[in-house]
Amino acid sequence: MKKDDCIFCKIANGVIPSPAIYEDEDFKVILDRGPAAKGHALVLPKEHFDNVFSMDDATAGKVFVVAAKVARAINKTFGCDGINILQNNNEAAGQTVFHFHMHIIPRYKNDTVNVGWIPGEVTDEQVAECAEAIRKNLN
Ligand code: 5GP
Ligand code: ZN
Repeated sequence: MKKDDCIFCKIANGVIPSPAIYEDEDFKVILDRGPAAKGHALVLPKEHFDNVFSMDDATAGKVFVVAAKVARAINKTFGCDGINILQNNNEAAGQTVFHFHMHIIPRYKNDTVNVGWIPGEVTDEQVAECAEAIRKNLN
């Protein structure tokens, strides 16, 4: 399903032209127009999913295969020192375009890209309790 007035539905399905790095039946991979670094790419499913919460298993399974393929190509192209593959779900997590997309971001030693957090501290009991709570909600 596509969503009216969704910019990434339009780009992924060719309604708005954008040079593709990769395209198949289910995905288009484009370059980010506000890149964190040269070569910053976005994997867009052609179907509309607001975020990972509404994505079906088949698409979720395929998306990382595409991301890995493109990451290898970006690495070869730019000889970067590393690559982040990440995606944001909901505003609190930094999502600004509400059509699922996966970022592939080339990284260089001492670059200014900021993908990080301050590590917290937990006990073994807290880890076990947290794991059990999440496990109950798997489906
Ligand atoms: P988010 O913050 O939702 O994880 O990432 C959205 C990304 O989409 C941003 O990095 C932003 O630069 C990029 N973006 C927003 N609009 C467009 C667009 O029209 N074309 C392209 N290629 N990238 C876009
Ligand atoms: Zn969309």
